[in-house]
Amino acid sequence: MSEEQARRESAEEQPLPADAVTPKKVRVMKSDGSGVAVEWKDGHASQWSFVWLRHACPCATCVEERAGSGRKPGEAKPKPLLALYEPPVHPVEVTPVGKYAMKFKWSDGHESGIYSWDYLRRVCQCEACKAKG
Ligand SMILES: [Zn+2]
Ligand SMILES: [Zn+2]
Repeated sequence: MSEEQARRESAEEQPLPADAVTPKKVRVMKSDGSGVAVEWKDGHASQWSFVWLRHACPCATCVEERAGSGRKPGEAKPKPLLALYEPPVHPVEVTPVGKYAMKFKWSDGHESGIYSWDYLRRVCQCEACKAKG
């Protein structure tokens, strides 16, 4: 591992301030299927669609699978040209996990990902965070 890479990796592991990973308000918009919105204690706001979250599943299997095909969290698998129409994946059940995370039971049967607040904040999709890379 190069020095540059090591530095970058340790930067990613840096703990975020407590207020940045503490949700003030969480909205799971299950009925209209639009996704999850979080207002953080530090005033930042994040929002993800359910499809994005499904493709950002942080369980070991999904992380490995994405790494293997070079996809970023939230990036869908390329679909075959003649794929059958599938309704967009949505959560059947959303459960809080202690104070630090939430988990989804998805309509495709998958449910092993634990979405910690820390993880969600790190994958915030707002323009400002995306610009930071
Ligand atoms: Zn998974
Ligand atoms: Zn953001």
